[in-house]
Amino acid sequence: MWYSNVIVLSEMISYYDISGCYILRPWSYKIWDLMQQWINNKIYKLGVENCYFPLFVSKDRLEKEKDHVEGFAPEVAWVTKSGDTDLKEQIAIRPTSETIMYPAFSDWIKSHRDLPLKLNQWSNVVRWEFKDPTPFLRSREFLWQEGHTAHATFEEADSMVMAALDLYKKVYQDLLCVPVIPGYKTNKEKFAGGHQTTTVEAYIPMNGRAIQGATSHNLGQNFGKMFDIKFQDEKGESKIVWQTSWGLTTRTIGVMVMVHGDDKGLVMPPRVSPLQAVIVPILSKKLTMENANPYCISILEDLESQGLRAKYDDRSMYNPGWKYNHWEQKGVPIRIEVGPTDIEKNQVRVVIRYNGEKIDLPVADLGVYIKDKLEDIHKAMFEKAVTERDEHVVKVTEWKDFVPTLEKKNLVLTPWCGPEFEEWEEWVKKTSREESLKNRGEEFEEDTTATSVAAKTLCIPFDQPELPEGTMCIASGKPASCWVLWGRSY
Ligand code: AMP
Repeated sequence: MWYSNVIVLSEMISYYDISGCYILRPWSYKIWDLMQQWINNKIYKLGVENCYFPLFVSKDRLEKEKDHVEGFAPEVAWVTKSGDTDLKEQIAIRPTSETIMYPAFSDWIKSHRDLPLKLNQWSNVVRWEFKDPTPFLRSREFLWQEGHTAHATFEEADSMVMAALDLYKKVYQDLLCVPVIPGYKTNKEKFAGGHQTTTVEAYIPMNGRAIQGATSHNLGQNFGKMFDIKFQDEKGESKIVWQTSWGLTTRTIGVMVMVHGDDKGLVMPPRVSPLQAVIVPILSKKLTMENANPYCISILEDLESQGLRAKYDDRSMYNPGWKYNHWEQKGVPIRIEVGPTDIEKNQVRVVIRYNGEKIDLPVADLGVYIKDKLEDIHKAMFEKAVTERDEHVVKVTEWKDFVPTLEKKNLVLTPWCGPEFEEWEEWVKKTSREESLKNRGEEFEEDTTATSVAAKTLCIPFDQPELPEGTMCIASGKPASCWVLWGRSY
């Protein structure tokens, strides 16, 4: 409830009459826009080029890779008619574009000279989720970028996978002030049809749930085999390419809202806030618009000359209190108040959204100060989120402590026999659900991801704590081979 109030009142989202579809208003779309610019800059440096492929995919192509189609089949939306006429062959709307792009890869790639091929597209995809849709976090249509690359060797593909994942980590941490845990998915949770999936996982403090932030897949040669993507190497031998795909969606915005929001509404991380500072004049008999204007406009120009996204809210139909509330709800990092005494003293009052701090400052060099302050806010918001997250990642080595730890809004790190033991992963899911329901005096729950009390594996973190000799898996009792992170998840 808090979440939907915040995103509606801040003018990020409007609801729509088809469940799972939402209108992204300028206040959220601008964040996506800024993320796009940032990501484009980074991927160009990795040699990735943008392109665009069609929205539709034929049944034949969609069903070519068996595991892939099985993974996506329940969520695929089909077009079966045009007007009143049945289509001869129904066509699918892309849930992801592997099967749309790879036939073209097969045409384009003939020789080692055609490799690596590194493409990205910014697009929308449709996954007809049956689990509770939630704006940004789990919608039926969402915006994303999907990178698709083909390489001559496994190693090259793997380094692309890691470069994309590192980019995602930076999107969360360097733009959104959200700490993430990078790691490998288990076999059970990996991308349908892929060889290995890497992920960045975020923590949502208000309910103690985890959420998959973004994923980067090493596809191995599965798709290459199915779509016949072959090249002649330097020796003239025919080889199958090694591929990757990686995607980051508008889910990022929802995670950011959940991690930083407070009772007053959004709290925007400065680097992606559509506006970084708003100037509000405190108009009265003592300060008329005519007197406030030149003072405030010169502050605005100073901020803009520092490259900041700023606004002078000179609307006369709203009083200052209304404006404070309005921009607080929208989470603008800094408010600059200008009252009559401020003008007399050549100063302003600066109010910081994330901690409520108020500072009186001289107007000279204000732009430089605000620019630095925004960086300080970024650091402080990130550190606060890291502290909160770290307090809620708890190591557990005995099963009896697992569910009680989960109940305290924690993610749980445990020794694990290994990702290949899917039956034990299933056991933890089932047993954690049963125990949680028993604690609540309930017998049954619907398995909707967003509210499920069952724990699932989030990832095998790259950063592994020491695993002493003789440590046993928390579930199977077999010797442990790694630490794995569990959580109730979105
Ligand atoms: P995938 O191609 O399945 O690996 O998905 C890429 C990323 O999309 C995932 O890591 C999620 O962060 C995100 N994602 C998956 N499903 C949805 C959805 N229904 N709405 C928004 N984001 C999603």
